[in-house]
This record gives sequence, structure tokens and C-alpha cells, in this order.
Amino acid sequence: MRITILTLFPTMFEGFLHTSIIKRIIDKGLVEIRIVDIRDYSLDKHRHVDDTPYGGGAGMLMKVDVLHRALAANSKENSRILLTSPKAKPFKQSDARRLSKFSDIVIVCGHYEGIDYRFEKYVDEKVSIGDYVLTGGELASMVISDAIVRLLDDGISKQSLEIESFDNNLLECPQYTRPYDFYGDKVPAVLLSGNHRDIKHYNDKMALRETLKYRPDLLENHQFTKEEIALLEEIRNEFEG
Ligand code: SAM
Repeated sequence: MRITILTLFPTMFEGFLHTSIIKRIIDKGLVEIRIVDIRDYSLDKHRHVDDTPYGGGAGMLMKVDVLHRALAANSKENSRILLTSPKAKPFKQSDARRLSKFSDIVIVCGHYEGIDYRFEKYVDEKVSIGDYVLTGGELASMVISDAIVRLLDDGISKQSLEIESFDNNLLECPQYTRPYDFYGDKVPAVLLSGNHRDIKHYNDKMALRETLKYRPDLLENHQFTKEEIALLEEIRNEFEG
């Protein structure tokens, strides 16, 4: 896979590209992440990339001609072109999965007050990372590419991806590691029992419980199995108890 990020602030990506799991996935050759400076596509001698909005208003807008030139030079016919924007549906794990199937992705980072609206017709989709306004699309592009890249085959262990939050519209169950006893707070005994059926039952129940507690909205789209309906009953009885 190739991801090209168009930005006015390439140095923001140094830590992202050279640290931890993303670095490992890049070193394995599973993804190439190119950072392109949009300013290189400005033709005027002062390398202007932004201008004041027509009709007045605060701040500066990124210029459509510069963005278009940067995009044309760094995309291919089969590129999936994303524009970071708060004016879009929030990015989800299902979007990360969908996008991980593309071989070439271009992500455009806005900055300042945003971009000239006329550029939007050159992108395939706008992506927001949440209902808040960032100073620029750089962090958003890192979030989006991080979520995509970790899903690539051989990126991280298959097991780690097997049961994760949002798969099947559930949150992941709580997990524990050593020490067994932390100031009297002990790891649930069932997890040490070695009984895989009991452990699965417990983890499934806890996943449902976490989802009910923190993201009950996810359950609206969850296909409940018979076992899960029974687990819900157990959880309800515990809450009532
Ligand atoms: N004036 C714009 C508005 O009110 O909708 C906000 C522009 S924002 C300050 C500058 C750039 O940051 C945007 O063009 C976009 O690229 C990026 N950005 C801001 N919030 C974002 C979000 N929640 N998700 C993705 N990108 C975002």
C-alpha cells in the first residue's frame, strides 16, 4: 500500500513515521508513507499557499490551484483521495477496514481556516476524526493512516486484530496482566482457570457489559446471538442485584 499525505507542515510527521508499530510496518515494506509539502506546488515567488476569503470573514483559506497541482502530481488513477475535514461523518473502524483494501491513498490536510470549497470536487471522500475542530488535518491524517495501516496483512499479529473494539459493534472486554494482585485488586479468578469455555463466556459477558456501559448506541446495530441474549439477562440481574 502507498499513502501520500499532502501537508503544509511535513515536520509534524517525523515522530509518527519513525516510532513504534508504524515504523515497523513501514520497515517491513507493507506500506510506503510519503509526506508531500503542498508549498512546493505554489508557483509565485513567495510560495503563497493561502489567501483571504471572498465575501470577508476571518482567517486564510488554502488556495484551490495550489492544492489541485499538488494532488495532480501525487495521485494516480486508482488513488483513493481523502480530504480531512470536520464537515464529514466521523471516521469509524469500518472505514479503516474499507480503506485498508485500497492500494493507493492520498490524504489532503487542510489548515488555517480551511480550504477553497472548489477543491472538494477533486476528492473521493471527506473524513472527519470527530466532532471538534483541529488547527489542521495533520493529526487527522495520522489518525486515519494509523488505523488503516495496522490492519494490513502481516502488519501486526492476526490474533491482536481478532476481537477488537468495534468489531461486531462491541467494545473489547477488559484485559489484565501481571501483577496478579495490585494493592488487593486481583485479576478475576476465571482468567487463571485455564478453562477456555469459561474464559470465553466471561470475556463475552464483559465485552457486552463494557458496551452497555460506555457505548450502548453500538448495540443498536449488533446482531445478538442466543448466548448474548442470555448474557444480557445475567448482566441485568447483576445490575438489579
Ligand atoms: N473553518 C472550518 C470549519 O469551521 O469547519 C475549520 C477549519 S480547521 C481550523 C482547518 C483544517 O483542519 C480543516 O480544513 C481540516 O483539514 C482539519 N480539521 C479540523 N478539524 C478536523 C476534524 N475533526 N477531522 C478532520 N480534519 C479536521
